[in-house]
Amino acid sequence: MQPLRGTKDILPEESIIWQYLRDIVTPILSTCNYNEITTPIIENTELFYRTIGDDTDIINKEMYNFFDQSQRKITLRPEGTASIARAFISNKMYNHNSINRLWYLGPMFRYERPQTGRQRQFHQLGIECIGSNNPIADVEVIRLAILILNTLDYKQYKLEINSIGKIEEREQYKSILINYLEKYIKDLDTDSQARIHTNPLRILDSKNSRTQEIIYDAPKLISCLNTESRKYFDNVCELLESLSIPYSINYNLIRGLDYYNDTAFEIKTKELGSQDTICGGGRYNSLIEQLGGPSTPSVGWAIGIERLIILIKNQLKLINICPYVYVINQNLHTQKYTWKVINILETQKTKFELDLSCANFSKQLKKAYNSGAKKCIIIGDNEVNQQNITIKDLESNIQQTIKLEVFIDQIQYVLYSQ
Ligand code: ATP
Ligand code: MG
Repeated sequence: MQPLRGTKDILPEESIIWQYLRDIVTPILSTCNYNEITTPIIENTELFYRTIGDDTDIINKEMYNFFDQSQRKITLRPEGTASIARAFISNKMYNHNSINRLWYLGPMFRYERPQTGRQRQFHQLGIECIGSNNPIADVEVIRLAILILNTLDYKQYKLEINSIGKIEEREQYKSILINYLEKYIKDLDTDSQARIHTNPLRILDSKNSRTQEIIYDAPKLISCLNTESRKYFDNVCELLESLSIPYSINYNLIRGLDYYNDTAFEIKTKELGSQDTICGGGRYNSLIEQLGGPSTPSVGWAIGIERLIILIKNQLKLINICPYVYVINQNLHTQKYTWKVINILETQKTKFELDLSCANFSKQLKKAYNSGAKKCIIIGDNEVNQQNITIKDLESNIQQTIKLEVFIDQIQYVLYSQ
């Protein structure tokens, strides 16, 4: 049996990296008052149709939709923000605080062609700052993404930022863009040809190299922004500069989801081939209202954890998952005594493995060597009768028998000195 295409088991060696990431990220986010939220993996299909937008990759071809036993239309969530907006409304979170800062980490599902850094079940860490329409909020969230990467000691990234303005400005730009693209329609990739009248902005996001060449010389959205939108964008840039966060403006940056306005940004790397985006985010001022909640301007981002792990894996020291002590014992009688020793190891938080084979001593000892442990504790009839334990150093093979009391009193010395 194999796992489904595009899904992966996270084995214990890798789980340690996930745990490490959580340990780094949690205090960074909670210090800035971002609190964890966990929403269901399944939602009504309608939620995503109403938010992500027509003619986006996710809606057109990537959704995992199914009918449940009662013929309800259900979807495995393809992203986090729509669910958070739904949770914000369902739980009337707007009644408690005027600003809600949230973070989440969990699996997302998209039916895509699997390749390095692209899976059908993948995980996102995301944050949402809900309730502010000031550039300082945009910069707070961008700063946190950068802080997380820096704390992980990952440096090979670039922040790109753009403003995609308001709906009216995008409408005006759409007609200018369509006029331009129609001249090259034959040279566009087929997806882009199909989108030219339904969702022309998506074409700016095309990964096709010929389409990208055409886009390079296209008129830019920024030329359609009014003074207010321009000023908002300039303020965000100015604040980034005051924090010395390097960025470049990418006038063609458009996000793959329709609910964004004004600020859009991505953090990219050259180390992942065509899966070059580690983090994507932006401002979404009308999403919550559009779902029936109060008008609540918000901004957030999501980082792809699998991509992040590929990038930081090499620089992480291999974390040892072997036990430190291997415990072997002779028979049922000695097993009872063994629990005393195990209690002591647990109090010390010393990682141990208890032999479960009930085989003879030499076979158990072989297992001790194979386990990767540094020490072996041997408990036989003699040890029990005299209230002793025997400790063997598995590297030097030096063995000593000591009183259980001495072991308890001097455990640090006995276990950790040669
Ligand atoms: P891409 O252009 O690579 O398809 P996207 O624009 O669809 O990315 P977003 O919806 O912005 O991605 O999601 C945010 C982040 O989640 C991405 O930057 C990426 O790191 C990660 N991500 C998205 N899709 C996948 C996937 N199928 N497998 C692994 N990670 C993914
Ligand atoms: Mg995608």
